Amino acid sequence: MSFWLEYGLTYVFLAVLIFLRYVLVSGLFYMIFYVLKGDSYKTKRISTRLRKPNQSSKEIKNSFFSSLIFALGATVLIYMWKEGHTKIYIDAQEYGWGYLILSGFIFLLIHETYYYWIHRWMHNPKVYPYVHRMHHDSVTTSPWTSFSFDPAETLIQAVFVPIMVFVMPIHFTVLFILLILMTISATINHLDIEIYPKNFDKHPIGKWLIGATHHGLHHSEFVTNYGLYFTFWDKWMSTESKQYHKRFEEVTYN
Ligand SMILES: [Zn+2]
Ligand SMILES: [Zn+2]
Repeated sequence: MSFWLEYGLTYVFLAVLIFLRYVLVSGLFYMIFYVLKGDSYKTKRISTRLRKPNQSSKEIKNSFFSSLIFALGATVLIYMWKEGHTKIYIDAQEYGWGYLILSGFIFLLIHETYYYWIHRWMHNPKVYPYVHRMHHDSVTTSPWTSFSFDPAETLIQAVFVPIMVFVMPIHFTVLFILLILMTISATINHLDIEIYPKNFDKHPIGKWLIGATHHGLHHSEFVTNYGLYFTFWDKWMSTESKQYHKRFEEVTYN
């Protein structure tokens, strides 16, 4: 098979896979929290504003184009891996079990740092209209918002994993688990319904984790809560919303 045919087919396969993953995961969260548990959660939405008409269809359309761009990154990654240019490894003994587990946490901390600072840059008024406006078109979020970005922002996000596997040894199952975590975390953060229990925002572990209330406030306040998975940059840089703990208390159940 020629190079272009092989990687053309790989690209189409990955684009379908990435978009299907979005539809299935967001659809599952939508079914659980909006359809099956709809009535019990109605009074505890994080945003106080109603969704705009056609917001979900716009988000799904944006997510389709995001999938096409993420598939480009994934195709490049597979090409680099086949040519032996990545540091993805298969034998767990190669770096030991300690490194294998640690590498997952290191990856998340680097991703957090990358995203926090790029996210703040994307809110620069000169940059915002070209890079980050589409994501904030959703003032009130839903599971469908999780993959709705401008093409430029998608590209900034899509290069992260290929660059990381170029410089950091990572076991393929760790990479697979990280990709699942990224998908689930993005969906939870845009749910507009808090799934963590009361006082989790003050728990020794919970206070460092971002959930729907934390990120929902980013969509409504716009200049607070820039983090992705963890709250530490927002706490250190004093960009965490002053309303966070109060709102968390209001939207959680005993
Ligand atoms: Zn933002
Ligand atoms: Zn968001």
